[in-house]
Amino acid sequence: MSTGRRWTEVVPGFFGIGVADVNCYLVKTADGMTLFDAGLPRSRGVLRVLLGHLGADEADIDAVVLTHGHFDHVGVARGLRAEGVSVFVHPRDAELARHPYRYRPAAPRVPYVLTHPRGIPPITRMALAGALNVRGVEAQPRVTHEHPVDAPGTPLALWTPGHTAGHCAYFFPDTGVLVAGDALVTLDPYTGEAGPQIVARAATADTAEAMDSLDTLARTGARVVLPGHGAPILDGVGPAVAAARRRGPH
Ligand SMILES: [Zn+2]
Repeated sequence: MSTGRRWTEVVPGFFGIGVADVNCYLVKTADGMTLFDAGLPRSRGVLRVLLGHLGADEADIDAVVLTHGHFDHVGVARGLRAEGVSVFVHPRDAELARHPYRYRPAAPRVPYVLTHPRGIPPITRMALAGALNVRGVEAQPRVTHEHPVDAPGTPLALWTPGHTAGHCAYFFPDTGVLVAGDALVTLDPYTGEAGPQIVARAATADTAEAMDSLDTLARTGARVVLPGHGAPILDGVGPAVAAARRRGPH
């Protein structure tokens, strides 16, 4: 899912949608379908293809659950909300979801990209997939740390601040799958670097806090990790968190 536009069933019932290095995940459980994160505007076409494959359409999605409010994670949320789908976010990211470009990273973006030129192609791909034209969404602030989310599959919300103030990961204890969002990624679109890591200072509010949040992810003992950017981690959260710690903030 690193480039191009497509979907893949990572583990049974967990479908990854990857567009321009941005991932979102449709999760199908016995009680319905939840979309974790809402990608970029162009993610919608892939989502529709995937839903068609499942014999469903957008109205069959029961909820959109955001890991955080950045523009590349809320892309299709407003459109789905207009179709009657509930959208949930942690209270501390509700304002960001409304205004998904209004945030202040730890390092200024333009100089950062100029000194990390490998980040330019992923950012160009994101722009072509509509990253400059995302409209915010009025999400319900009904996500609470260590409580199940009121959405199909009832995943456990894990407040993992740092990338943003209200960033949350979502854990499915029965299947051992962790939707990590941008708390742990395997590709950083701002640097073009692959491998388990936190997102660079260019897009992260507090990298020290993001490093601390890795502990929360590690404690899940998740078997599979679905990151906001880059390929899924299929050999457990432990080695990935260890690698991200070795790499450190950047
Ligand atoms: Zn982000």
